[in-house]
Formats: sequence, structure tokens, C-alpha cells
Amino acid sequence: MSVAAPHVLVLGGGINGSAIARDLVLNGVGVTLVDRGDIASGATAYSSRLIHGGLRYLEFGEFDLVRESLAERGRLLRLAKDHVRPLELMIPVASRGGGWTSAALRFLTGGRLGAKATGPRGVWLVRMGLWLYDRYARDETLPKHSAHCVGEPGTPPVDAATYRWLCAYWDAQVEFPERFTIALLHDARAAAEASGAPFEVLTYHRAWRSGAQVEIVPMDAGVAAVGSAASRIIEPDIIVNATGASVDRALADLAIESPRLMGPTKGSHFVTRHARLIEALGGRGIYAEAADGRPVFVLPLGDAVLVGTTDIPFDAPPETAVATDAELDYLVATVAGIFPALGFARGDIDFHYAGVRPLPRSDAASTAGVTRRHAIVDHKPGESGAPPVLSVIGGKLTTCRVLAEIVADRVLDKLGRSRQISTRERPLRACDDDAIAAQFGALPPRGEIPEDLARWSIRREWATNLADLVERRLMLLYHPRLTRRWLRRLAKILADEGKVAEASIEEHVADAIARLAEHYGKRVYDD
Ligand SMILES: Cc1cc2nc3c(=O)[nH]c(=O)nc-3n(C[C@H](O)[C@H](O)[C@H](O)COP(=O)(O)OP(=O)(O)OC[C@H]3O[C@@H](n4cnc5c(N)ncnc54)[C@H](O)[C@@H]3O)c2cc1C
Repeated sequence: MSVAAPHVLVLGGGINGSAIARDLVLNGVGVTLVDRGDIASGATAYSSRLIHGGLRYLEFGEFDLVRESLAERGRLLRLAKDHVRPLELMIPVASRGGGWTSAALRFLTGGRLGAKATGPRGVWLVRMGLWLYDRYARDETLPKHSAHCVGEPGTPPVDAATYRWLCAYWDAQVEFPERFTIALLHDARAAAEASGAPFEVLTYHRAWRSGAQVEIVPMDAGVAAVGSAASRIIEPDIIVNATGASVDRALADLAIESPRLMGPTKGSHFVTRHARLIEALGGRGIYAEAADGRPVFVLPLGDAVLVGTTDIPFDAPPETAVATDAELDYLVATVAGIFPALGFARGDIDFHYAGVRPLPRSDAASTAGVTRRHAIVDHKPGESGAPPVLSVIGGKLTTCRVLAEIVADRVLDKLGRSRQISTRERPLRACDDDAIAAQFGALPPRGEIPEDLARWSIRREWATNLADLVERRLMLLYHPRLTRRWLRRLAKILADEGKVAEASIEEHVADAIARLAEHYGKRVYDD
């Protein structure tokens, strides 16, 4: 394929790779974005879905990270209203004065002291942290923090035998970061159409570099090959490796020698529709300490509740991560400890998911102490003529825009170009079709399958198989009663659109049902 220079190959279509692609295209740089799976099929889909400053990072002395994240939180609330909404959170607190020593140790050692340094935080310490958080946020649109006695009318009924106070503060939530990521790519495509900059998204593809050339090869497993593009060779000016927890593996494919950069950890969540838990939350989230001192969130999510997360070192490929029984028991026990009167039990889980945090390799003694700060590694090309490679390490949903800005500035600098357009005040719509955008606002769909939306996602949103549609476009994974009939209907639409063979519809449905069961513990009803 011949491409007009400058042209950047972005590896990874998670929130960061997609935000980087958007920023580059907006600035007239051609982009080929390649993902070995679907868009947003990595950590982006399996996160806690908070747009937050990271209250607990204050204890690790990461003031710059908190300030930057809070500024981005404010921006996203203003500019991405289709996706990001304010969320009130409450911290149940047991004692008046506890936690100072361990907090001071965490602060002084930057988390290197380990898990033993944790201890329940008392109400004075929590309020001091929240006061600082409010000061850093400088946000006049969200209420300031407040403290309440347990049992106060209108507060969640946490266990009064354990807790005495509830400290309230505000952050934000992106219900579906999967759709947010696609919105970034909608914006990138619109910018490319306006400027003429080449822009292409190739999902289920992989890239191998040799010298100046990169061969982009379709992945054969798990996807119907009908209509897929043939392998092609490109010669990008720069490669951006935004493959999340797979950064080291992608570097090997690019033949880049590098010390190990990543130290990923797994975090699991579950989703429940336990009616009394939903009622107890009353639209607010709970941010509590589990028995081992780890933070656990109990969050409203549409008409359900999301609970997470764990934090366990994880070296295997991220796509193999699944929540284990032990993790689910730990999360269930934490909810039962906060709300013992609700009778919450393991059988109340609707489905679960596990994601792998793209954290840097670290000598912190506890995984909680590993920095959530992002970094960019500039690999020197080993051979003459080989394109420079930039690897993105870490990053949060919350900071995707600013991370993309930093990476794009680095790329523009290398290309000898200057920035024309900034994303700092650029709104992010769900998509540019108002009728479709309105439907996105009401996902997962109620009533019948929105066939027009499914077709739109296939034609305009790079959806190629049932998993793409169910898990990351129509958000049917989050539907309380997903049926085999719906899966059949979607598979038929995929066949009509030339993505799967008509004869293999039943096979695709069976594969989708098996994946939903194994990967998510999600039941599909016969009808
Ligand atoms: C449990 C958990 C909870 C979290 N909670 C929050 C939160 O509440 N708020 C917050 O702000 N952040 C949170 N995060 C962090 C946030 O989700 C991630 O930092 C962010 O999603 C990373 O995005 P990414 O695009 O860098 O990586 P990913 O989303 O992992 O995307 C990487 C992409 O690269 C692709 N890929 C991999 N290898 C290759 C290859 N060789 N070639 C091409 N493509 C490849 C993958 O398929 C994937 O789509 C959480 C993360 C986890 C795991």
C-alpha cells in the first residue's frame, strides 16, 4: 500500500491508542490503527469505569497525578456529556483517628513499604484527604465533600456495628468506556474526512516489523475470515505502541530490544442486579476498604451495580484473564461486610469480568503502591531506516486525552510539524448522527434488538462478529435477559452484511454462548 507521508502506525485500539489516533488525525497526520482484537477489548472494557482524580494516590504523594486527573475529570464532564456523568461516592469510616501512621509510611515510602502498612483510615484522615481533593479539583460545578453519621436519613444503610461515619465526595463515571473509545474513532474519522488525512482502523490484525517495513496480517483465530483484508505492507514514519499490558509482547513483534517495561496486575469485577443493594445505594457509590485494606468500589451502573476490584500480579496474555472463584468470594464478602442486613451472596452475581492494568514494572512491595502515572518510552531504532517506536506505559481512562496530547506532541516533534488543533476544548459526541446518538444513550436496549443500530455498528463502527456487537457496541452483555433468539438475529444481520457465512450462523451463536459463559459467567436464556 502506498501512503502519503507522514503516516503513523498506532498499535492498540484501547482508549489510549484511539485517543492518540484522534489527536494525530486532527493534526493532519495519517494513521493506521491496528488492534489484535476488537476496539476497546482490553483493560478499557474491564475497568471500574470511574473518571476520577484518584483520591488514594494522595497518600502515595502523587499530587501531580491527582491534579492532572482532576483537571481531566472536569474537562470530560464538560466536553463528553454523552458519556461522562457526575457520581457521588461515600466512604464508610469506623474510627475517629486511625490510619495516620500507615498513611504517613505510604506517603514517605511511595508505597514501597508493602501491604502491612495499610490500616483502616479514621474520619479525620479521610476528611483531610477529601479537603485536599476538593482544593485540587477547583471544580465549582460539583458539591464539596461532607461527613454524615451512619443512620442519617438518606444515607446508605451500611453496617452500624462497624461504621460510624459516611464521608461523601464527588467524582464521575463513564458507564461504557467501550462506546467512549468508539466515539474517539468517530471523531478521528470525521477529522480525516474533513482534512483528507488517511485514516484506517484494522481490528483482528497484527503487525510484524522488518527494517522499514511493517506487515499487517489478519488474525485468523476467532473471527470469520469472510471479506477480511489481505496482508499488506506499510512503511510508517513512526510506530506508537499503545497495546496496554501487552507492550512488551508488541515490542517483540516489532523486533525492538528492550528491558521488560510492564508489571501488569489483574483486577476483577462483578455486576449484580440485587434489588436491595441497588436500593441501598440510591444512585451513589461506596468506596470502602476490604478486610485486607484494599479499596473496593460498589458502584451504581445503569440499572445494576458494579463491584470491584482485586489487584493481583498477572503475566499471562491479558485476553486470558478471567475472574476466579477466590476473587469473587473476596468481593462478595466485602459487600456482605458493608451491608450485612441485605443478605448478599455469591448467587446474586449476574456476570463478572477481569482486566489487566497496564502498569509499569515496579519494585513497590504491594501492587496498590505501583504508580498509576503514565510514561512514554522512546525506543531508538536499532537499524538504519527503521521507524522510531514510542511505547505508552500505564495511563487511566481519566487521563486518555492528556496522554494522547503528550504522545501526539512527541510524534509531531519527530515529524518536524507543529500542532494545529488542540483537543483541550473539543467536545466528544457519541457519534455525528443525532438519531443514532440518542439510541446509544439508552444502552443496553430494552424491548427488541435495535437492528438499525446493529447494522450501523457493522458499517460504521468496525464491528465484525457477535462478540463485538454483544460486548462492546450494543452492550447486551449488560442486559438482564440476553436470549439465544437475539444472538441468532444478530448473527443473521452479520451474515447479511457479509461478515459471517450464512451457513455458520448456528456455530457463531454457539461460540458466543460458550464465550459468554466461560469469560463472564453470563447466562444466555433460550427465549
Ligand atoms: C481492573 C481495572 C480497573 C480500572 N479502573 C479504572 C478506573 O476506574 N478509572 C480509570 O481512569 N482507569 C481505570 N483503569 C485503568 C484503565 O482501564 C486503563 O489504564 C486503560 O484502559 C488503558 O487503556 P489502553 O488503551 O492503554 O490499553 P487497553 O485498553 O488494554 O488496550 C490495548 C489494546 O491493544 C490491543 N493489543 C494488544 N497487543 C496488540 C498487538 N500486538 N497489536 C495490536 N494490538 C494489540 C488489545 O487488543 C487492546 O485492545 C482500570 C484498569 C483495570 C484493569
